[in-house]
Parts: sequence; C-alpha cells; structure tokens
Amino acid sequence: MAHYDVVILGAGPGGYLAAERLAAEKLKVALIEKTDVGGTCLNIGCVPTKTFLNSAKLYAHAREGTAFGVETGDVRVNWPRVVAWKDEVVTRLRRSLELTLKKGGVEIVRGQGKLTGAHSVAVENGASEPVLLDADSIIVATGSSPIIPPIPGVKGNPAVLDSTGMLSLKDIPQRLCVIGGGVIGVEFASLFSSLGSKVTVIEMMDEIVPVMDKQMAMMLRNALKQVAFMLGTKVTSVDGRNVVYETNGGEKGSLEADAILMSVGRKANIEGWGAQETGLEIKNRAVATDAHQRTNLPGLWAIGDVTGKSQLAHAAYRMAEVAVADILAARRGERSVQEFVPETVPWALFSLPEAAGVGYTEHEAKAKGYDIDVIRTPYGVSGRFIAENGFSAPGSIKIILEKTSERILGVHMLGAYASEHIWGAALALERKLPLSALQNMVFPHPTVSEVIREAAWSAR
Ligand SMILES: Cc1cc2nc3c(=O)[nH]c(=O)nc-3n(C[C@H](O)[C@H](O)[C@H](O)COP(=O)(O)OP(=O)(O)OC[C@H]3O[C@@H](n4cnc5c(N)ncnc54)[C@H](O)[C@@H]3O)c2cc1C
Repeated sequence: MAHYDVVILGAGPGGYLAAERLAAEKLKVALIEKTDVGGTCLNIGCVPTKTFLNSAKLYAHAREGTAFGVETGDVRVNWPRVVAWKDEVVTRLRRSLELTLKKGGVEIVRGQGKLTGAHSVAVENGASEPVLLDADSIIVATGSSPIIPPIPGVKGNPAVLDSTGMLSLKDIPQRLCVIGGGVIGVEFASLFSSLGSKVTVIEMMDEIVPVMDKQMAMMLRNALKQVAFMLGTKVTSVDGRNVVYETNGGEKGSLEADAILMSVGRKANIEGWGAQETGLEIKNRAVATDAHQRTNLPGLWAIGDVTGKSQLAHAAYRMAEVAVADILAARRGERSVQEFVPETVPWALFSLPEAAGVGYTEHEAKAKGYDIDVIRTPYGVSGRFIAENGFSAPGSIKIILEKTSERILGVHMLGAYASEHIWGAALALERKLPLSALQNMVFPHPTVSEVIREAAWSAR
C-alpha cells in the first residue's frame, strides 16, 4: 500500500488548491479524480458558463454599438463557434492546471475513490484490484451535483436538461423554459435571452436569486427585460416539451419550450465514497465540519460544496486554505488560527447586467436584530459607467450599515463590473471596517468602482 502525507478525494477547486498548497510545503500528496481535473467549476460550471456569457455580451455590445458610434452591419451569433471557443478555453485551462499540479509534485490518481477508514482510500480504476492508498490526513472534496426533483415527466425526458446538458446544446433554443430562478437559472436565462431565445423562468418563491437583497433582485428582474419571470409558481409536471405549472393562487397553465433547464439547486455528493461506512457525521445532507474544516473523524477534513457551507468555487478555495493551515499546524503539534467565515464570502452573478454582493441583505440584517441605515446610490454617478453603458442602463449599489457604529454589514451591487470590485467590499466586511474606511480610500478615476466611494459619501 502506498503511503502519503495527504490524500485528497476530488480534484475540483477545493481539492486541487489544497493539493497545490500542500505539495508546495514538500508533503507527499495524492489527488484522486474520477472524471476531469478542475471539477465542476472548470469543466461544467464557472468557466464554460462565463465563456458563453462573454460571447453573449460581445453580441449585445456589437448590436448596441451604433449608439456609441460603431456600426457593424449584420451581427449574427455562430453558435457552433461559441461552443468551440468554450471547449477550447476549458481544455486549455484544464491542461495547464494538470501541468501545474504535476510540476508542483502532486500525484494525480485517476479513478473512483472510496474511504476504507479515516486514513485509507481504495481507488477503483477499471483494473482487477483497486489501488490502495493510506495517509496521515485525508481531505474530502467531492463537490455537488444537480438536484432533479421527482416531478412527473422529468426523468428520462430528453427535453429536460441540467446545467451540464445546456453546455452542449446543438442550437440556440427558440424557446427556453428555466425551472428555478437561482443563480444558475438566471445566468442561463440571461445568456439565452441575449442570444435571441424566448426565455421564461418559473420560480416557486416570490423573488428570484435567494442570496440577493430582495430589492436588488427585483431590479435585476426588471433589467432582464427579454426574460419572462413567473414568480410564486410551481411546475407540477412536464409532458414532452410542455411544462405544466400552478401558481400559489391555484391558477393552472402550461407552456411549450424547445429546451427545459432544471435548475432547482445542487446537492452535496455524500454518497458512493464511504462516508456512511466510515462513520463520518452527515448534517443537513452534507459532511459536517467545524470552522477549521475538521470532520468528526480525527485526521479527516472536508472542504467545498460537499460541506454544504457554500456552493461557490472561491469558498471552496478558502476552505482548502483553512484545512491546509490546520493540517500543517497539526503536523507541528499546533492548532491553526485560520477559520472559514461564510459571512464574508462574496458572491457574483454574471448575468447581463451582472450582480454581486457580500454580507447581510437589508432583510437579514433586520432579522438579526441590527438597527440599520441603508444607503442606495445609482451607478449613474460614475462617468465611466455612463460612457460605456448609456444614460438608461440599470445599475445600483446598496450598503447596509449598523447605525451606531457605522460598521458595514452588507454591500450589494447591480451593474457592470460588480463581480470585479465586490472583493473590496468583502475586505471591508472581513476587517469589520466602518463606512469612513470607504470614504477615506482613494479610488482610481474614472472607474465604475467609484460608485462605492460615492455611496459611502452620500451617507453624509
Ligand atoms: C453551471 C454552474 C456555474 C457555476 N458558476 C460559478 C461561478 O461563476 N462562480 C463560482 O464561484 N461558482 C460557480 N459554480 C459553483 C462551483 O462550480 C462549485 O462551487 C465548485 O466547483 C465547488 O468546488 P469543489 O471542489 O467543492 O467541488 P467540485 O468542483 O464539484 O469537484 C469535485 C470533484 O470531485 C470528484 N469526485 C467526486 N467523488 C469522487 C470520488 N469518489 N472519487 C474521485 N473523484 C470524485 C468529481 O468528479 C469532481 O471533479 C457553478 C456551478 C455550476 C454547476
């Protein structure tokens, strides 16, 4: 049996970052992966969807160019080329990641890994005998998968696709029905409506994207003009391409679509790798971990989507760093001080326009009992935003403050580049900074990020 300092199960963002960092510390590391290195994010998640969304953005800009003095003539989308570019980006990034891992000294072990104890793993790779590995420490990073609810007519229906199926569509669907208005559903709705599909989003709740501040979510919905949103509506069955629904008020109806995206959420991958057999604690259908990413089994850590703490690649990165720090400290007989703090993890939605946020929404801050002040500022205060997007483009920032201390509790943005400058707000939250910290900071001019500074000063 081969011995390693650390064995990692799953080579998504959590797993590969942990492997890279541990190998850099000269530890002997094995990274087990049953499909593609890079996991959901690189192969079928963040990277392919953002590549598609960039093509949609280019298309929109080209069509709107006349108002900005750029005439392009007949602008068309070459869908096979859009898909080919996405495939090229994913393949090249994956190859480069594999190379970086190998160069860094990480041993990539292909196959389906299964815990046989808190310090041992068996890897099935089609050979007659599994490859057996044992390790001082194990990190579980098996990720998550789409939830397919038991709605009659969904299972085995070729018209119903999950997010992975949407990545290899042969054509742009004329009519797309998106079931579930969360982050993934709204990104696909934005993408295909920008490319000319007639898109309907059916959402059971009274607003889209639960992570968003409700007011900002409503603004996003209004900004996605070409998308029809049916809120408070539940899909009751699917008959071929016919989606049957019922509203909260009991009104029934149906609509036809050429493609139906099922995007009602993702579930932690807790099965098939020995969690139950080894006695790993499972809570709320995810691997239970403390703030250092330790599980109930000594020597075993879990990170990323499988922990149920967050379903974001950068949260998986952070959990990896926290687990690595803890493993290194444990090897020195010490305890790590690093912890994973979900409250300061920013999120971004790469729709057109994009949205991003960090910390409490107005509703959450009130529910937590904070006495708050709310600042709202339109993106129109930024000269660059106007120059690039025109006078009527949607864009807004909202800052939630604790009234007495002026501590920043949440920052929510809708508009161009929101995903690029939300990290600054995350830093303010992470460092528990007051509003004056944003007022006294010098922002480059002219940038859209200046809306943060303008909003901070508008409070006075
Ligand atoms: C369509 C879509 C778009 C997304 N966009 C974004 C975005 O823009 N930004 C963002 O932050 N997040 C985004 N996400 C979420 C992001 O992809 C995940 O949060 C991230 O990939 C989680 O990383 P992870 O390491 O926990 O797991 P994963 O990336 O899911 O990786 C887990 C890996 O473990 C492997 N594995 C599982 N079990 C075993 C086993 N028994 N043996 C061997 N290997 C195993 C899997 O094959 C997989 O490769 C998106 C997700 C989707 C689906």
